[in-house]
Amino acid sequence: AVYDRIEEVEDNVQAYLNLMKEEAIEQAKKVDQKLADGEDINPLAGIPVALKDNLSTEGIETTCASKILEGYQPPYNATVVEKLAAEDVVMTGKTNMDEFAMGSSTENSGIKNTYNPWDINRVPGGSSGGSAAAVAAGEATIALGSDTGGSIRQPAAFCGVVGMKPTYGLVSRYGLVAFASSLDQIGPFAKDVTDCALALNYIAGHDEMDSTSVDREIPDYTANLDGDISGMKIGVPEEYFGEGIDDEVKESVWNAIEQLEELGAEYEEVSLPHTDYGLSAYYLIAPAEASSNLARYDGVRYGHRSNQANGLIEMFKKTRQEGFGDEVKRRIMLGTYALSSGYYDAYYKKAQKVRTLIKEDFDEAFAEYDILISPTTPTTAFEIGDKSNDPLQMYLSDICTIPVNLAGLPALSMPCGVDSNDLPIGLQIIGDHFAEEKILQVAYALE
Ligand code: GLN
Repeated sequence: AVYDRIEEVEDNVQAYLNLMKEEAIEQAKKVDQKLADGEDINPLAGIPVALKDNLSTEGIETTCASKILEGYQPPYNATVVEKLAAEDVVMTGKTNMDEFAMGSSTENSGIKNTYNPWDINRVPGGSSGGSAAAVAAGEATIALGSDTGGSIRQPAAFCGVVGMKPTYGLVSRYGLVAFASSLDQIGPFAKDVTDCALALNYIAGHDEMDSTSVDREIPDYTANLDGDISGMKIGVPEEYFGEGIDDEVKESVWNAIEQLEELGAEYEEVSLPHTDYGLSAYYLIAPAEASSNLARYDGVRYGHRSNQANGLIEMFKKTRQEGFGDEVKRRIMLGTYALSSGYYDAYYKKAQKVRTLIKEDFDEAFAEYDILISPTTPTTAFEIGDKSNDPLQMYLSDICTIPVNLAGLPALSMPCGVDSNDLPIGLQIIGDHFAEEKILQVAYALE
């Protein structure tokens, strides 16, 4: 049924880069057989799940929507892919994204645009735009994405689906093509909170292949969804409702907060004073890490190699010149500059200090509040081309999501209404480290 749906809408949505239909049908048949044999199957068995194209899939092209990785077939699966395969999940295909996950609209894809299923003149958000659009359009039941500065939550908000960025370290990053390693985290997109919790159950957990993955007990995230939220203390960070945030967005988010009050939760406004510096710190730290991570694309080890070059050095240069898009080149230049001798202390080190201050703002808030609620994005989905020539405007779409990554916290975006253009509005629920259960409970209460 999902492939029928893809047939029907994919020409307009363009969520996928690559379909894995043959493998998927094979997998579905295996689940059918298990059922016919009276075997027990897992809750996710047979469920169609789409994968962002920065998740390594053994023998299946993985490009991060970059020309530099054209034709690259990883020799191994990402841990999350292995885990889903072990549950007999049906993996539908690889979804479009901003090249190397750098962007907020999927317009930075080196391959093609993806269109928002609510209005195909608009962007689906990014960088996991293909995954969000696939779930919104019924081209997958669940999808996985990655979130470095908002890339799951922002497209989830723009496409009217649930999207969750887990605590840094909860989900293994092994096999996720690295963008900014201290910020990247894999998470699910789903149509509702229950499916999101279910997906998290199967991707979370310690992995010895990722030294930053945390060894701790993983609860059943679906078990306490309907837990009582009365008496819960909600903080509403005032900096997330300031200038630049659309009035309709604010109003919808406030309505949801009042709804939680009716359910017995208490709310108070709170200040996270260093919020304003989040974007600047992020755009030093993320490009710095990216400039180092992307050094490996040299035309020797992966994908594309220029055939226009004489000699090794020229081959490196031409390969990177031809293979990377403008935004990726911009980030590499910003990052190498911020890390260079003489500038390191002024930029990179300073940004790391600001990162600590931002984390401390959250620590103080979570000493008092169970969760924080804010808009996910300043506006609803914008039109294709609206911000693609203005990187700074594009960067501002992540103003509400970036501080969460800098602090390594978990957060979820869920729909909380529509604006006057009938476009979905996203609400962000932020929790303390490893408070995924609490976040999901509040989200479930609002659904
Ligand atoms: N839009 C932000 C960026 O371009 C965040 C991307 C992400 O979370 N991968 O860096």
